[in-house]
Amino acid sequence: TFAVTDARIRCKYMDCVSVCPVDCFYEGETMLVIHPVECIHCGVCEPECPADAIVPDTAAGAAPWLELNARLAAVWPNITRKGTPPADADAWKGVPGKLAYLSQ
Ligand code: SF4
Repeated sequence: TFAVTDARIRCKYMDCVSVCPVDCFYEGETMLVIHPVECIHCGVCEPECPADAIVPDTAAGAAPWLELNARLAAVWPNITRKGTPPADADAWKGVPGKLAYLSQ
């Protein structure tokens, strides 16, 4: 599977949603996550992300993000179409340590 990291928080560009062949993204207020069972590990979403927020489960440090994605994909609604990114998404791109801004 792939997982979304905190680089996505407040940078909800959602380009990944448009390309995912199995619609396995789930949407929270400030972030999207990937459902770990539904994801077929095709990898097409990873290069689409302007915030470089999507990592494979084999990436160093991926474990806590995999746990976060699994937990929130179970409770957040599915998203199948790209919405409108936040107006200040570019200002938050690359800001480190955004977990504090996660709305659950
Ligand atoms: Fe969807 Fe493929 Fe990305 Fe998994 S790796 S979330 S199946 S686009």
